[in-house]
Amino acid sequence: MDFTGKRVLLTGAGKGIGRVLAEMLLARGAQVVALTRSAGDVEELRALGAEAQQVDLADAEATRAAARAAMPCDYLISNAGTTELQSFLDTTVQAFDHLIAVNTRAPMIVAQEYARDVIARGAKGAIVNVSSVASFVGIPDHAAYCTSKAGVDGLMRVMAKELGPKGIRVNNVNPTVTLTPMAVKAWSDPAKSAGMLNRIPLGRFAESAEVGEVVLFLLSDAASMMNGVSLPVDGGYMIA
Ligand code: NDP
Repeated sequence: MDFTGKRVLLTGAGKGIGRVLAEMLLARGAQVVALTRSAGDVEELRALGAEAQQVDLADAEATRAAARAAMPCDYLISNAGTTELQSFLDTTVQAFDHLIAVNTRAPMIVAQEYARDVIARGAKGAIVNVSSVASFVGIPDHAAYCTSKAGVDGLMRVMAKELGPKGIRVNNVNPTVTLTPMAVKAWSDPAKSAGMLNRIPLGRFAESAEVGEVVLFLLSDAASMMNGVSLPVDGGYMIA
């Protein structure tokens, strides 16, 4: 997939899946506008050739301002996400609100600014949110995370209906465990990862590039009839 000359807004480009996506997009000719939190990652992304801006996506006003400043963009990937392991009974309001703010509310705010700009220019576009299989199933100790990802799937379906007629397709990718720093944090206990792996017919977790390829497919014109889909990238986990 060639993205030559396309300007792509990408959140959470500092690490993990987002960093790999930034590298894939740059290698395929895109201009990458990266929003991420850590200053060190911003510097590294700039060195790679991306435009990078430091922002805390938990801050609604700062998120809106950063998204607005990034316009115009051809495509949007809302990838940034975070997690916190707490049993349901121990889930704190603070952690719950934080995960909803970063994983669910920030994709809404950034998409509003992106879509307003695309519509005002009379252009067409596409949005892909990086959701999770956690939106489909209940994973112990992930109450806030599962809720936030189910939320971003619901948000996507409404955006697909409202923005589709305006020429903007909206889809989600829903990966299984993908081997990034966040996954190491969540799945370092072998007893827990064995249970997950046993449910994946392909017998392994995903690599970031395997998720990235599906994100770029949904973003591209190759997926021109795809709208409103939550697409598992899970080695068959959801049928197991
Ligand atoms: P990483 O932790 O490796 O990277 C997440 C990126 O998002 C980092 O650059 C991080 O910046 C950024 N980010 C997090 N919070 C904020 C914030 N408040 N403001 C700005 N940037 C922020 O995670 P992954 O690459 O694993 O995850 C990417 C996406 O994929 C997430 O939405 C995640 O939920 C989803 N996902 C991941 C899976 C996995 O197993 N890895 C499985 C299924 C879905 P910083 O480090 O500076 O905080």
